[in-house]
Amino acid sequence: MSDASHLLRPGSFANKTAFVTGGGTGLGLAVATRMGRLGANVVCASRSLEHHEELLARGTSEGFEVMSAQLDVREPGDVKRVVREACERFGRIDVLINNAAGNFVRPAMLLAPKGFKAVIDIALNGVFYVSREVGRRMREGGGTIVNISAPYASTGKPGVVHSACAKAGVEAMTRSLASEWAQFGIRVNAVSPGPFVSKGAADRLWPSEEMEQQVLGQIPLGRFGTAEEVGELVCLLASDATPWVTGAVWLADGGWTLPQAMVEGDVARVVRRKPTDTPSEPTT
Ligand code: NAP
Repeated sequence: MSDASHLLRPGSFANKTAFVTGGGTGLGLAVATRMGRLGANVVCASRSLEHHEELLARGTSEGFEVMSAQLDVREPGDVKRVVREACERFGRIDVLINNAAGNFVRPAMLLAPKGFKAVIDIALNGVFYVSREVGRRMREGGGTIVNISAPYASTGKPGVVHSACAKAGVEAMTRSLASEWAQFGIRVNAVSPGPFVSKGAADRLWPSEEMEQQVLGQIPLGRFGTAEEVGELVCLLASDATPWVTGAVWLADGGWTLPQAMVEGDVARVVRRKPTDTPSEPTT
């Protein structure tokens, strides 16, 4: 596996404050840690303060500031308060990562309206509440926002209609806010990762060994992604290294969304043959 951690220069986020929703686990933890190591003050905002302990420990041992904030992104009043407190502590917010989400697998015919609404409330409405509040603060001086989507926002996928609808909305919000807020120097982009390893994903999306193997078999590059390599793309889009990128959705999925028929059975053996193998003769 190659190492993506050379993409950003040391100090890329020096003197900046990054607000990361769900920053205590999985992808959020990888992004928050990387930004802290690159010089940022980090606001870690989610419901469970226990989830922030690992990031707080890393901040203490590695010398970056972490503000642990209890926040349910579904509550606009809480969002307003936490954003205000973050600005009081660090002066401003330069970077927002809308990473918090909830998901589970349920066929649409068995999905209760309450379950559909719960996922939309966190993964779509919550992204709007936080973006709106932070965007109002970024209006003076600009900033960058990176939203976390998923490839099935555009392809669709069985069992996750709730999350697919939320993420499709997030991608529409990404483009709409990018166009509306460019005048304020605010860039808005999204990263759309395929299946990467996190406890949350493993518990909810591929809970059994059999399901894990099934998902793995759908990834042409032959492995799950890592939170760190997806996180590096998130950091790149949030950094000053991509000043002319806005309204973009960057896909990083190991080929998960490519047509799959060509990598099955005999064809797979041909496709995966080493380049040094003798080429087969044409049959006609
Ligand atoms: P994860 O570790 O379960 O992260 C989800 C985070 O969201 C948790 O830290 C959780 O913290 C926070 N959260 C949930 N509900 C919240 C709420 N109401 N208010 C505030 N925070 C809330 O999962 P992950 O795999 O790293 O997922 C991160 C992002 O990547 C998500 O947007 C997900 O949709 C996306 N994604 C993941 C995959 C994958 O294969 N892993 C693929 C495509 C997209 P608390 O419990 O403390 O609130």
